[in-house]
Amino acid sequence: MCGIVGYVGKDNDGLKKLIDGLEKLEYRGYDSSGVAYFQNENIKIIKEKGKISNLYNEINFAEKTNLGIGHTRWATHGKADKENAHPHMIGKFAIVHNGIVENYTTLKKELMKKGYSFKSETDSEVICALLDYLYKKDNNILNCIEKLNEILKGSYALGILCSDEPNYLFAVKKNSPLIIGIGDDSNFIASDVPAILDKTKKYVVLEDGDYAKIKMDKLEIYNNGKIKKYDVKDFGFDSKMIDKQGYEHFMLKEIYEQPEVFRKTTNPYLETGFDSLFNKMPDFSKYRKIRIIACGSAMHAGLVGKQMLERFANVKTEVETASEFRYNKLFLEPDELVIVVSQSGETADTLEALKIAKKNGNDTLGIINEKGSTIAREAKIVLYTEAGKEVAVATTKAYSAQVAMLSLIALNIANFNNFISKKEKVEILEDAKKLPNYMEGLLQKNEVYKEVANVIKDYNDVFFIGRGIDYALAMEGSLKLKEISYTHSEAYPAGELKHGTISLIEDKTPVIAITTDKNVASKTISNIKEVKSRGAEVIYITNSDYEDDTFYDKKIIIPKINDIFTPLLTVIPLQMIAYELAKIKGCNIDKPKNLAKSVTVE
Ligand code: GLU
Repeated sequence: MCGIVGYVGKDNDGLKKLIDGLEKLEYRGYDSSGVAYFQNENIKIIKEKGKISNLYNEINFAEKTNLGIGHTRWATHGKADKENAHPHMIGKFAIVHNGIVENYTTLKKELMKKGYSFKSETDSEVICALLDYLYKKDNNILNCIEKLNEILKGSYALGILCSDEPNYLFAVKKNSPLIIGIGDDSNFIASDVPAILDKTKKYVVLEDGDYAKIKMDKLEIYNNGKIKKYDVKDFGFDSKMIDKQGYEHFMLKEIYEQPEVFRKTTNPYLETGFDSLFNKMPDFSKYRKIRIIACGSAMHAGLVGKQMLERFANVKTEVETASEFRYNKLFLEPDELVIVVSQSGETADTLEALKIAKKNGNDTLGIINEKGSTIAREAKIVLYTEAGKEVAVATTKAYSAQVAMLSLIALNIANFNNFISKKEKVEILEDAKKLPNYMEGLLQKNEVYKEVANVIKDYNDVFFIGRGIDYALAMEGSLKLKEISYTHSEAYPAGELKHGTISLIEDKTPVIAITTDKNVASKTISNIKEVKSRGAEVIYITNSDYEDDTFYDKKIIIPKINDIFTPLLTVIPLQMIAYELAKIKGCNIDKPKNLAKSVTVE
């Protein structure tokens, strides 16, 4: 989580550059923010609680600097207040930190014995003291950073200033992302691309253990005490792609981009029919079992994927939450493919799960949105979703691109095993062409979503129910509602409700019920009737033309399409209801409280 920026260059508008960069990274954390910069050979620090706009108001942009670091925090250790905000400064060092130092308590005690005192509750300030302590013993900063790599346990990306070095910016990373942007007579560090996209297109990705000594016109990268060669890459997109383009929120823009994202993600694999699927995707039919590991919405995409893989490809699939998988007993079988799903490609728990699977000797496949991200580099095979930059913290288009990719994998395996008839193949290809239009049709029904949001706005609890694939979608719908509208909701398998949860249904309790799977629709409808007869206000999302209209209060119709694509339609009303409710409640839709986009801590 958190956003780090740093700048060293010939222009002395450093404060503007740092704040610009932080604003672009605010989606990564917004508990507090701060900057440290050189002023006449001295390091000056300004920090503030809350959003970057609070910091902005404290800054005197007339002050000139050509070297500085900045941070927007997502608190892990210590309250979200000014004292705990970064940068931290002890002795000659100011640092910004992204990550968690796992052995900070022991280090803190040792450093306190050596006379250090601490102003904050953070693990990060301990790094600063340690650096100062090491530097007093060995006056060489690079040696000290190398030593940090030996001592610190956990995850860290650091931007470092030292008052003895007014021309240099230092950086180091392990298990947290950090890139270096290469400009003309200027260089940058950043946690993520948007921070520097309008300043340079050239960048270098730091690997674990790498540390850098950066001057305005020179970059040196070291690892294990030795200087190393590095590749300079080029961003494939520009800053316009991270603009709201007239939409009220990034989230709304991203929901509306889904038809195009579906085309971009699936076209390469379907453009010449099932032949291109055959030629462009590896043969996954050799695996006897599939394990999908992910977090949050990506895990929900995995649950949809499981239904597709089992139904179309007849391959046993299990889905696990990465943070659980990594500490559970390992039951991976040798012929099991491990699929990790992550928008950012930096999700800490998912990355660790991937490393465990690799170490166990399993083949790994990453379904990733961010090109060149850590998980994309670590996985044996990568399939990129083409969702483009997703800025809103709550995912929409990246989720549906993940679902689309998992559907393609199910079709790939089914195709290799001759499980799909010629007739169905033709239907699937035709439906893939129709799907974006159907999505657009659903997007135009925003009056209905507003009406639903108005119905549920006065209630504290909302239930989502469905069976099979509809349950997987119910989970995503419920998560969206919680994330952005702060309304408590629960997703339940429709048949399970009467085993306890139905006791919570009262007069007018909103229940969003989904039936898109004709094999279980009539069963779910019986469960809907059970809640309706106990007074629930039922919002019914379906693609069936079941004639009975006595069991719901509002109906949202999903177009009929091959089952492999239906989830990509069902999710749209769910996203839009959450969006409209968050808007009515006046929530901060793109940056919900307590959340951050790229979860780089465990
Ligand atoms: N662990 C640090 C803190 O709580 C850094 C958190 C972050 O990555 O924003 O301050």
